[in-house]
Amino acid sequence: MFTSAEIIAIKDLLVPQNKIVIITHYNPDGDAIGSSLGLKHFLQQKGLQPEVIVPNDFPKFLKWMPDARKITIADYKRKQAGEAIYNADVIFILDFNASHRSGNLVGPWIEKARATKILIDHHQQPDAFDYVYSDVRIPATSQMVYHFIQALGEESLVNKNIAECLYTGIMTDTGGFRFRSTSATTHRIVADLIEKGADPAMITSNTWDTNTVSRLHLLALILGRIEVVKDGKVAILWLKRDELKELGFQKGDTEGFVNYGLSIMGTQVSAFFMEDLYEDFIKISFRSKDEVDVNQFSRKYFNGGGHINAAGGKYFKSIEETIEDFKEKMEAEEF
Ligand code: 5GP
Ligand code: MN
Repeated sequence: MFTSAEIIAIKDLLVPQNKIVIITHYNPDGDAIGSSLGLKHFLQQKGLQPEVIVPNDFPKFLKWMPDARKITIADYKRKQAGEAIYNADVIFILDFNASHRSGNLVGPWIEKARATKILIDHHQQPDAFDYVYSDVRIPATSQMVYHFIQALGEESLVNKNIAECLYTGIMTDTGGFRFRSTSATTHRIVADLIEKGADPAMITSNTWDTNTVSRLHLLALILGRIEVVKDGKVAILWLKRDELKELGFQKGDTEGFVNYGLSIMGTQVSAFFMEDLYEDFIKISFRSKDEVDVNQFSRKYFNGGGHINAAGGKYFKSIEETIEDFKEKMEAEEF
């Protein structure tokens, strides 16, 4: 958490005459959108008028969230997003650790902005910003936003909108309150959020009972050919661009696919390789169990990073070569 001196300084910044911008990482997920909108609704309760900016569009299954459709998508509204960041007095950096994670457009804008920059995030190795609240043990940035509100002494301002957004962020980033860093504190906060108006059945149904037919077709394809190597410890899934096109891929369709690899008895790592639709690179998702550190692995070999048990990366060879290189590197890992 921020020190008490920092909290006092941040309080002084959160006044109506200051322009506040909240930014997430590229390809925003449930926690990025949940934490940003949760913080936005909280600041509105304090009489501020913050603007949430995301680098690119986000999945449809998150658009039910209160004010999701008021988010500025920089890809579509360059001028508005650029000017807001340029003119901001305060920028909140939520759910990412370094400017470049917000992409080639927004990243450099953040670096050039004159605003006071406040980071709240749970990824490893945060860059230096004016104020940094970084904790890799917390399962969701949305939980950290709640801790931040507590530190400001303003829990009484948490209303239904804030509760719904933070609940969604925690639910999605913990895989439904299942992942390892889900703690008693997480559950206490979730209980508070339910008391303040978050409806678990509604949120779960709006967020997760939202399969598209294309998603199920893509899932059927990859499950039908899932491969297991390294004595059953490593699962491999992949999708090619032509397959994505043929089955009518829509944004968000492949979210969570990588987790199926870890559901096989005995696997410790799952890797999902996908050809980018437009550019010549392979987007990779890694998931692991327990002590197996895919963050380090991805940093070392696949131009990426993330958390110990959930990381991503990019690779600039063909998908076949990428998977071959992956197998070779994995065989050499000790676990
Ligand atoms: P996902 O597999 O869901 O895309 O990403 C899993 C985690 O790894 C996320 O927390 C994300 O922040 C991180 N991550 C994904 N791709 C990259 C990347 O290219 N570089 C870094 N540093 N982290 C990534
Ligand atoms: Mn997160």
